[in-house]
Amino acid sequence: AKEIGRNNLQLFNVEMAAKAHEKLLHQEELRDAIARQEFVLHYQPQVNLHTGRVFAAEALVRWQHPERGLVTPADFIPLAEETGLIVAIGDWVLNAACRQNKAWQDAGLPPIIVSVNVSARQFSEGDCVSRVAAALRDSGLEACYLELELTESLIMQDVPAAIATMHELEALGVQLAIDDFGTGYSSLSALKSFPVSRLKIDRSFVQDLPGDEDDRAITGAIISLAQKLNLRVIAEGVETQAQVDFLRAAGCTEIQGYFFSKPLPTTDFERVFSVCHAS
Ligand code: C2E
Ligand code: CA
Ligand code: CA
Ligand code: CA
Repeated sequence: AKEIGRNNLQLFNVEMAAKAHEKLLHQEELRDAIARQEFVLHYQPQVNLHTGRVFAAEALVRWQHPERGLVTPADFIPLAEETGLIVAIGDWVLNAACRQNKAWQDAGLPPIIVSVNVSARQFSEGDCVSRVAAALRDSGLEACYLELELTESLIMQDVPAAIATMHELEALGVQLAIDDFGTGYSSLSALKSFPVSRLKIDRSFVQDLPGDEDDRAITGAIISLAQKLNLRVIAEGVETQAQVDFLRAAGCTEIQGYFFSKPLPTTDFERVFSVCHAS
């Protein structure tokens, strides 16, 4: 039994070493990807049910890998977070999204807001505020057309520091949203002191609508909370007409999800966007 134990331990070590090595390789690869700018943004439309129009889009990063093709964020954001490479990637995303949005405006498309996801390290390290200011200045985009999505858990890591940074961002004129709302632990009293303009209801509360009684209660409560606090509210991950109907009846008029569109490459997004505004 002792022998087996030792062999297992050895195997375990070999496996761990292999894992560590693989991680190092991936880290190197990710570093190269940043240097070569192998990232692209896809844009997911956000629709206002009242007007039927696309009024905003969420920018979602993908890694255009030379061999593996399009890599989804779930497969590289965690490592990027862990290694701190997310700061450089986030910077690229921010600049690319601002430039693209300005280019759409310059091309004569109706102005929309582009939302960018901000990771915890990007927010707390590397002088987030001046990076955002630089992206706006370099692109020439007006601040009100940029929204930053902050998750509840990011804010809750250090509430006073987060509020201070949020106020600085607010002073720049950018919009702030709380992403994945309802999944974190922000207290209602804390929410009152966040200078945010909207809440994004997490997909996990939307996916079982309208059948799930708990989720009906939760989404209904978030929507009325937003209304009472004078915040806008958007539901994400909306896939069905029944979900749209429930959300509309509950008072949520901003919708994002596969029901309208998946995240789209730039040119596809432009097509959807211009068609929707031509009518
Ligand atoms: P998220 O911010 O919650 O983004 C929404 C995710 O839900 C996106 O996945 C989107 O494609 C997906 N989604 C949208 N509508 C639907 C729907 O109707 N049904 C289903 N099943 N899924 C839907 P994606 O693009 O794979 O991104 C995953 C996560 O990666 C994002 O979650 C975000 O946390 C992170 N991420 C993406 N881009 C960036 C970025 O530029 N920076 C940072 N820091 N994180 C990013
Ligand atoms: Ca998001
Ligand atoms: Ca989200
Ligand atoms: Ca449920």
